[in-house]
Amino acid sequence: MEQKTEDKYQLIIIGSGCAGLTSAIYAGRYKLKTLVLGSYFGGVIVEEANVENYPGFVSISGMELMKKFKETVDSLNVPVVSGKVISIKKNEDKNKFNLTTDENKTYCADAVLVSCGTKKLKLSIEGEDKFNGKGVSYCATCDAPMFNKKTVAVIGGADSACQAAILLSKHAKHVYLICRKDELRGEPINVEHVTKNKEIEIIFNTNVIKVKGTNMLESIELDKEYNGSKEISVKGVFVEIGSVPSTYFLDKLNINLTKKMK
Ligand SMILES: Cc1cc2nc3c(=O)[nH]c(=O)nc-3n(C[C@H](O)[C@H](O)[C@H](O)COP(=O)(O)OP(=O)(O)OC[C@H]3O[C@@H](n4cnc5c(N)ncnc54)[C@H](O)[C@@H]3O)c2cc1C
Repeated sequence: MEQKTEDKYQLIIIGSGCAGLTSAIYAGRYKLKTLVLGSYFGGVIVEEANVENYPGFVSISGMELMKKFKETVDSLNVPVVSGKVISIKKNEDKNKFNLTTDENKTYCADAVLVSCGTKKLKLSIEGEDKFNGKGVSYCATCDAPMFNKKTVAVIGGADSACQAAILLSKHAKHVYLICRKDELRGEPINVEHVTKNKEIEIIFNTNVIKVKGTNMLESIELDKEYNGSKEISVKGVFVEIGSVPSTYFLDKLNINLTKKMK
């Protein structure tokens, strides 16, 4: 059955995080008939309790900051609607796009701006899916308090891994930071915090190849021995190995994506 086009816009912005809402402010100021469609309001910054690098605020929660963004968007009369876009197709008159959401609503736009953020990369190792939520986590901000006085491992070597290790060191008894290279690539200030932190033990040139347990995570297996063993007992593993753009639904558009976006 042909879907009913509910509304027509000059611009539809997909994503209601920092990027989407900022774009909406400019679209509104240019008086474009604009709609913002986002699957969850505010995006990932709402997970942050204290944003301390946004000019004008010494410290503000991510949710409060996004509410401030939205006040500006509202003042320009740009609607922000909840919905997850599952496909974008060129419509009959080829110059426009039909966007379909998971609630089977269709919107039409002359132009589409994709600001969907990223999704965390997985390690793709044995046990990772089985213990996801049972010791394996992709969000230290969300889950760190659950590992109070426990031993955990952070996997990764860039800034997000450093930040996760620093945060976890405030809760956990001990934090292993397992890095496949021979140096950390975080912001220098975070690398300094990590290396000076006595609760954080860095294991360089090492990969985690398996996460193990029975009902809950109990240990990780390394690809080489560390202190005489390939196995380390941990109650939590935080995977911080980067992220990829959330652009999976663009495939129906027949446009060329760069290798990183596929
Ligand atoms: C825990 C945490 C703490 C952080 N703390 C800081 C900090 O203190 N300072 C700082 O500068 N940065 C911080 N960051 C990074 C910052 O949050 C991100 O760089 C920023 O939020 C990215 O904004 P974005 O709009 O590009 O993407 P996102 O915030 O990821 O927003 C993406 C939006 O797209 C929507 N979306 C995705 N797919 C679809 C779809 N198919 N259909 C419809 N909508 C879709 C999502 O629902 C969301 O609304 C933090 C990140 C995290 C995870």
